[in-house]
Formats: sequence, C-alpha cells, structure tokens
Amino acid sequence: AKEVKAGAVVFQPEQHVTAPARLTVLGDLRRALDGTDELFLHYQPKYTLDGERIEGAEALLRWQHPTEGLIPPGDFIPAAEGTGIILRLTERVLDMALVQMRAWIDAGHPVPVAVNLSTRCLLDAGLPDLVQRLLAERRVPAELLRLEVTESAVMGDSARCMEVLQRLHVLGVRLSIDDFGTGYSSMSHLRRLPVDELKIDRSFVMGMTTTQHDAVLVRTAIDLGHNLGLTVVAEGVEGTEHVTALRALGCDIAQGYHYARPMGGERMSELLDRVGT
Ligand code: C2E
Ligand code: CA
Ligand code: CA
Ligand code: CA
Repeated sequence: AKEVKAGAVVFQPEQHVTAPARLTVLGDLRRALDGTDELFLHYQPKYTLDGERIEGAEALLRWQHPTEGLIPPGDFIPAAEGTGIILRLTERVLDMALVQMRAWIDAGHPVPVAVNLSTRCLLDAGLPDLVQRLLAERRVPAELLRLEVTESAVMGDSARCMEVLQRLHVLGVRLSIDDFGTGYSSMSHLRRLPVDELKIDRSFVMGMTTTQHDAVLVRTAIDLGHNLGLTVVAEGVEGTEHVTALRALGCDIAQGYHYARPMGGERMSELLDRVGT
C-alpha cells in the first residue's frame, strides 16, 4: 500500500477498499487480463542456509497499471479473491511462471519455482486439471512446480480443499504452507496434509533476534517442521544476525532482502547464469 502514489484515489489499501473503488479495480484488472503487458512476475530466489546455493525462486505478481503505476499485489489480490477473477489471475500467473521455467530449463537451470495460490483456488475442483494441462502445454516437469498455500487456507479442512491438495500432490507438484505461525494449525492436522515445505512468516523471522516470543515461535516451527519431515524456509530474512540465528536453529532455506529482492525474469536469468543452481 505504501507504493501507491499520492492522489491514487481508486486504489486504496486493502483494508479500506470501498465498493466503488473495488469495482474500478476489478474492471481494470479484467482489462489487464485481456491484454498481455500489464501483468508480469518478479522472482525472489531462495537460498540454502548451509552452502548459500539458490534452491528455488518464488514468483510474485506485479501490475503495471497504465495510469496508477506499479500496484503491489496486496492492493488488488484481496479484491480479486472476492470474485471469480482470482481464478483467471491464477491461471495467468501459473502460465507466466511455467513459460519462464521452461526458458530456464532450456538455459540449463532447472530451478524450482513457487506460485502463490489463494484460498479460493483450493476450493476450485478444476484446479488440478488446470495445473496438469498447463504443465503439459509448457512442457515443465511437475516436480519443479511448487504451490504455496497459506496456513489459514488449509486450516479449515473442508473435504474439497483436501481433495484438491491430494490431487495436486498426485500430479507430483510440491506444496508449501505459507505464512506459517499466523494460523493455529495443530500438528495432527499438518501431519495429514500432503505438503513438504513450511515457510515461517516473515513477521516472526524479523522479530526473532529482538523478541523472545518470536524467537520461541521460530524455533518451535523449525522443530515441528523437521519432526514432520518437512523442509523449513524462513522468509523476510533481512540481516546477518537472522542468518546466524537461523543457521544455529537448523533452518534449511532462507528468503529475503539479505540475499536478494524480488527481481524481473531477465535479472534472475543473469543471476542463475552467474551463480548456477
Ligand atoms: P507472500 O507470499 O508472503 O510473499 C512474500 C512477500 O514478502 C513479498 O511481497 C516479498 O516481496 C516480500 N519480501 C520478501 N523478502 C522480504 C524481506 O526481507 N523483507 C520484507 N519486508 N519483505 C520481504 P509482495 O511481492 O508485495 O507480495 C505480497 C503478497 O501478495 C504475497 O505474500 C502473497 O500473499 C501475495 N501474492 C503475490 N503474488 C501472488 C500471486 O501470484 N497470487 C496470489 N494469490 N497471491 C500473490
Ligand atoms: Ca508466498
Ligand atoms: Ca509468506
Ligand atoms: Ca505473507
């Protein structure tokens, strides 16, 4: 919301979206989806905490609006989630990510890429078929695609959501629990989910070197993840002190400004050429 330019009355921060503003956002988003040049992805690399190798990347949606400028995802995804537009948006994001992945594979960098899924998509029984079709069309192995779903999305274990996750898992797609620590999922519930990665929410990682409560949560999340056989990722890693603390706790992967900010596909390609995978 901070990136919204002064005078941008139409695009209010998500908390304050009024009905007419929401309609304008959605109308503009539909137009953006009909075109090809306003929506694009940035990629943020994830690094192993031991050797500092690039382990993968997360795809983050960007919207270059013709008059409002660059709009961050937090300012339009919540509005899209209230409607079917989120399904079209997700299809576009998946397709853009898979096209980029294919290019990286061809360049000798078969790097796993994670795409964020809204809660709404998990309730769409057509999602696994869509993912399967796009993987085939873009000729990308399912194992390289990772889908991030928030902890709160998988907490209410509706049978439908569970079935969608199971079918994605059967395809070979990897699943991550995003923003871990912000929900209240129990160990027994997590154990039944077909996931193999847990991402600790950045609010806890950022506080872990100054706030006891955050430190305890990060340590507990790492232990819980490892006890369940999951890879544990810390997001929002901004400082050397966080890297040191996370290493000491045995965290596997780190993502954050300390390593790299989200960047365009071209820059990510250069990074991969330079440091490899
Ligand atoms: P997220 O999935 O938790 O993504 C991580 C967010 O943290 C990104 O913000 C990223 O730029 C930011 N970040 C990364 N490292 C650091 C750091 O060291 N410090 C700080 N302060 N921030 C860091 P971004 O790109 O604005 O995305 C915000 C949220 O929008 C994402 O949170 C995700 O929930 C959602 N989002 C982004 N792209 C998509 C998408 O394609 N589909 C859906 N459904 N949601 C998306
Ligand atoms: Ca994410
Ligand atoms: Ca997250
Ligand atoms: Ca988040």
